[in-house]
Amino acid sequence: MGCEVSAASVPPKRHLCDLRMGDLALELAGLGLAEKKARYHAKQIFNWVYQRKVTDFEAMTDLSKLVRSHLKENFDLTPLGKVFEQKSVDGTQKFLFQLSDGKTIESVLIPAQDRLTICISSQVGCAMGCKFCNTASQGLMRNLEVHEITRQVLELSRVANITNIVYMGMGEPLHNFENVCRSVEILLSQEGLNFSKRKITISTSGLVPQIRKMNERLVGPNRVNLAISLNGSYDSQRESVMPINRAFPIEELMQACRDFELEPHRRITFEYVMLGGLNDNLEDAERVMKLVEGIPSKINLIPYNPHPASPYDRPKEEKVEAFHRYLLDRNVSAMIRHSRGRDILAACGQLKSKFDEVVSVAQ
Ligand code: SAH
Ligand code: SF4
Repeated sequence: MGCEVSAASVPPKRHLCDLRMGDLALELAGLGLAEKKARYHAKQIFNWVYQRKVTDFEAMTDLSKLVRSHLKENFDLTPLGKVFEQKSVDGTQKFLFQLSDGKTIESVLIPAQDRLTICISSQVGCAMGCKFCNTASQGLMRNLEVHEITRQVLELSRVANITNIVYMGMGEPLHNFENVCRSVEILLSQEGLNFSKRKITISTSGLVPQIRKMNERLVGPNRVNLAISLNGSYDSQRESVMPINRAFPIEELMQACRDFELEPHRRITFEYVMLGGLNDNLEDAERVMKLVEGIPSKINLIPYNPHPASPYDRPKEEKVEAFHRYLLDRNVSAMIRHSRGRDILAACGQLKSKFDEVVSVAQ
């Protein structure tokens, strides 16, 4: 019997963007390098990948041949494939990336004043089933690997000067907890993309145990911002739009927020999607105000962006303004955040659906 390994049975190489600085140093120490040297090389490699943005190990000319050939044999460095790109009249840009298994995810670049925010995906689809959200209609297909998260930022940092990162694209970040935490650690690396922890925000639909876990896991230099999708002011109302509320009702969620340790001057963001006639009354504003009492917070009011997969109406402009005014008059920090890129269907999950539609029409 021969012992050749057929091409199909060779396991795919691990992508280099899966590794944190410490993982990479360990990998190099495994080659027999002294600990200090391994750490030094790990920094050099991060610099090549994330700052000089090379896509070929051969370009890493200051590494020894041994290290270079080890990386080449064991790791992959291919860029994430962009398959679709669209620009809105308001400057928002949407990108659709194709993963190695053919699945697609989206990232959005949103310019505002002196910032350029990237909104990244953490899963293909989502399991949470929020009734107003287009991603929900796709169900959960799978979690993203660490490198599939970090490479969204790396790819777009080649063409844009990104200042902020929000985990608000497709998927529930805290449902892919470990990979999201690792991706955060990579994005924060000084020798890498060097984002400040104040410029990264993880948004969750309210997975209470994972919010508590995040409080323990992402600490000190890794303490990024937390945003909560509240979207309702009392349990039965929130439950009707966010099924997750059945498992973790509002009071438990708010307690987890109160227990989330905030550094000085940091606040939790509460996102509140306003659904016409459903949660946009002043009674709701009053309840929201009471819910966030005592929590350093800011409230983002997001008028619902309609799409065919969901039955709700956009709220009336006067209602949004009255809700906003109610909060401001009572010294509750609140902003109206209009969905960006409406003309290109930029709300959560919409480009993917559109692309899928385009693809299915084209086939
Ligand atoms: N799963 C996470 C992050 C992704 S959703 C979460 O739910 O927080 C990002 C934000 O988009 C959430 O606040 C969600 O409530 C909001 N959103 C989803 N669909 C929307 C729509 N059609 N119109 C306006 N905002 C929407
Ligand atoms: Fe998932 Fe967030 Fe959409 Fe809810 S709003 S279905 S949690 S992506």
